[in-house]
This record gives sequence, C-alpha cells and structure tokens, in this order.
Amino acid sequence: MIGILGGTFDPVHFGHLRSALELKALFELDHVRLIPCAMPSHRSQTTANANQRVDMLKLAVGNQHDLVIDAQELDRAGYSYTFDTLTALRHHYSQTLLLFIGSDAFNQLTTWYRWQELFDLAHIVVITRPDIVLNSLSDFFKKRLIHDKKRLKSYPAGGLFFQEITQLAISATAIRGMIASGRNPRFLLPDAVIDYITQHQLYKD
Ligand code: ATP
Repeated sequence: MIGILGGTFDPVHFGHLRSALELKALFELDHVRLIPCAMPSHRSQTTANANQRVDMLKLAVGNQHDLVIDAQELDRAGYSYTFDTLTALRHHYSQTLLLFIGSDAFNQLTTWYRWQELFDLAHIVVITRPDIVLNSLSDFFKKRLIHDKKRLKSYPAGGLFFQEITQLAISATAIRGMIASGRNPRFLLPDAVIDYITQHQLYKD
C-alpha cells in the first residue's frame, strides 16, 4: 500500500513529517508520497513558489526513503486537482492507494473536483483532529465506511476510514507569521529548511 499526503507545504514542518512517518508505520505502507500542490483550487495562493516548496521538501526529507517527494502537480498547467493526481498514480501503481486528508478538508470534500470518483482511485483516510467536528456522514460516505484497518489492504480503492494520529501543534501559517514578525521558528521545522528560508528571504512580510 502507498500513502499520499498532499498539501501546500509552505513551508514543510515537523507536523507534516512526523504524521507522514506515523502513518507509514500505522498502515504498514511501502512509502508515503508527499505531493506539493502547484496551484491550489481551494485556498489562497502560496507565498513560496512551487519550486521553492519542492526545494524545502527535499531538504527536509533528505535520504529518508520512507517519504517520497512527488512533484507531478508542478508539471500540469492550471489548478492542481487531486482527481488528476490520483489518476496519474493509478497508471503507475496497481497497489492499494491511501489518500490522507485532514478532517477539516474532509468536511469540504464534496466541493472537490470529481470528488465521488476519487473513491474509484484510492481509499480516503481522514486524519481526525480533536478540535475539528466532523460533518455527519451522508449515505454516500456511510456505504464506504471501513472500520477494520486490515480490510483496506483487500481492495485497491473505494473505502473511507478514520484514523486518529498524534497532532503536533504546528502549522505553516503560524511559522510564516513568526518569520514575518522576526520571531525564531527553530525546532518547529528542520534547520536546513530554516536556512533555505533565510537565504531566499521567504515569508519576511
Ligand atoms: P497552512 O497553515 O498554510 O494551512 P498546514 O501547516 O496546515 O498549512 P498543509 O500544507 O496545508 O499544512 O498541510 C498538508 C497536510 O498536512 C494536510 O493534510 C494537513 O491536515 C496535514 N497537517 C498539517 N499540519 C499538521 C500537523 N501539525 N500535524 C499533522 N498533520 C498536519
């Protein structure tokens, strides 16, 4: 099984990296693909450009093979749609795919481009957070609910699973705010990423 964690990674931080590793272990995945979004369709555009966000991911991951940086969305023009990303991954992998999304994103899932078809391509694993209340599940979702993690392996796609993980209180928004106001973000993200941010004068205001 392969895990997929998309995001803006503006910048990547230990919240992303720890949860990706924890998910790899929890689901016994071959690897987790970190997929930076080139042009988000659901939120304001990023501060660092796509190439800078990929550079920071590379510095953060180093030669840790459990995490793979997949920059495919940078090669596509226009908005980055998860549907297109999963379709491309399906062409390459016959294995079970797990798409990880936060519970806040799950609450908005029905607004995503071709959202119902995402279930033809992958299982969706919602990473639950104590502070976010989940919307009640429609029949479409109830039909797909899987309660036993072991069953995910039996199908390449189609299920909905909820997983709680240790949530570190770190967000990219908070890190950008700290840098803009001259505070030190050390120990929230890798030093190599901080050095890159300083060198490229990112997030200063
Ligand atoms: P921003 O503050 O700019 O919205 P973010 O820190 O939430 O950014 P994203 O790049 O939007 O980071 O997140 C990518 C994925 O990582 C999402 O699925 C998100 O839920 C998850 N994630 C973000 N921060 C954490 C964290 N501290 N712990 C676990 N998962 C996280």
